Amino acid sequence: MPEPLQAPSRPAGRELRDAQGRTISYLRLSITDRCNYRCVYCSPAKAPRADLDRAQIRRLLGAFAALGVRRVRLTGGEPLWRADVVAIAADAAALPGVDEVCVTTNGTNLAPLARPLRAAGVRKINVSLDSLDPGRFAAITQGGRVEEVVAGIEAALSAGIPEVAVNAVVLRGVNEGDAAPLVRWCWERGVTPRFIELMPFAGGVPVPTREVQARLAADGVRLWRDAEAPRDHGPAGYREGDGGRVGFIGALTENFCSTCNRLRVSTRGELQACLGGSERVPLAHLLEDGVPASWLEHEIRSALARKEDGHRFLEPKVSGRLLSMMGIGG
Ligand code: SAM
Repeated sequence: MPEPLQAPSRPAGRELRDAQGRTISYLRLSITDRCNYRCVYCSPAKAPRADLDRAQIRRLLGAFAALGVRRVRLTGGEPLWRADVVAIAADAAALPGVDEVCVTTNGTNLAPLARPLRAAGVRKINVSLDSLDPGRFAAITQGGRVEEVVAGIEAALSAGIPEVAVNAVVLRGVNEGDAAPLVRWCWERGVTPRFIELMPFAGGVPVPTREVQARLAADGVRLWRDAEAPRDHGPAGYREGDGGRVGFIGALTENFCSTCNRLRVSTRGELQACLGGSERVPLAHLLEDGVPASWLEHEIRSALARKEDGHRFLEPKVSGRLLSMMGIGG
């Protein structure tokens, strides 16, 4: 039996704030850098595999919950191929103070896991799906089968996961024409599609958010006004259309750093305060038995004090040192 979770005490004023005064309440945790897909724009990790184990993850999440993190997203690599993912999700959901546990997945192992994840307390699942066309999907993922992902999404919906979203990256000359069919397909199922601008981690040519919006309009998807953003919505801006909402994450062309409320921890326990920055602060050695919790808290707070006011994606020196998306967790 795992040790009982410590109920984190959170006296007023203990929440995490960075040097710019932003309150950090959202942790994205990569639980593995392994993935069964090799998407052309998402470089595979080169470092040796040494994922945090479940006990280390429980300590890490407990520390962040005590510091005011309310939302935890499990990502990767592909988190749903990790054998103890449901247990990790349940640990996260059981933490006092954490009111939302989410998962980002490629959907290939979602069909058997949707119900267990729902029972574990997962509220939101984002499934990556760049094209419904089997050939283009296979080309982007280097071998993926779109029907497996579709089955995963259908399973999440029938399991009653309260929010299901689809994340799509649009690549110039590859899948621009797939955006409108994807929106319609999502809306028919009550799923929110979100288009993420390509970030410079590996291959592919980005299509700016404004161009994706223009292409959707040209292909008959009418988006008539900005939609109200959901609570703690993160970087996506939403627009309302005839059949539902569409989210746009203009990571490069629409800088939203001033409202950033998030940080990331990699599968090896390295804290990264900004996805588009290059500083990684090792925490794994502070997650062992007997290490005082205050040491971990101190390390987290000092890393956040150095969180910069904006990303550095477009600076060549920094982009060359960006971690792989699989290790950080997108
Ligand atoms: N394997 C899971 C998945 O496919 O969703 C989780 C990890 S994946 C790194 C998380 C998200 O990051 C996916 O939606 C993926 O499309 C996105 N992503 C990966 N590389 C990216 C890049 N270079 N630019 C923008 N988004 C990227």
